[in-house]
Amino acid sequence: MTRSRILFSFAALCLSSLLAYPLLFGGASVVPDDQLQEIVYVDTESGVAFLLRARNSLESHPETGETTLIPGMYCAQCQSWKPVGPLEILQTSRTMHRCPVHKTIMLRDGPLPDSP
Ligand SMILES: [Zn+2]
Repeated sequence: MTRSRILFSFAALCLSSLLAYPLLFGGASVVPDDQLQEIVYVDTESGVAFLLRARNSLESHPETGETTLIPGMYCAQCQSWKPVGPLEILQTSRTMHRCPVHKTIMLRDGPLPDSP
């Protein structure tokens, strides 16, 4: 095997790992919008609920543009959505979120508000 052949196969190896890199590591961080889960965000100002793609923990209000929307959960007794907190808390926390009024455990599912 000549030196140039070794160099060539080394270059080919580098190239293939560069090509494989986005497939192995890049895919997880870039999720197309239509694959994002839709969750209910609640406006901390008005208490109005919105159905939005779960992209960030804070979302802008579709009308005011203020970042006052945070992920919420549903209280069956209030029959309304309550702001809970960041996505990470909502998705990973095992603690039960209770309604501030009824102290009952709130649900992730409920009647969905309209998408803006
Ligand atoms: Zn309640």
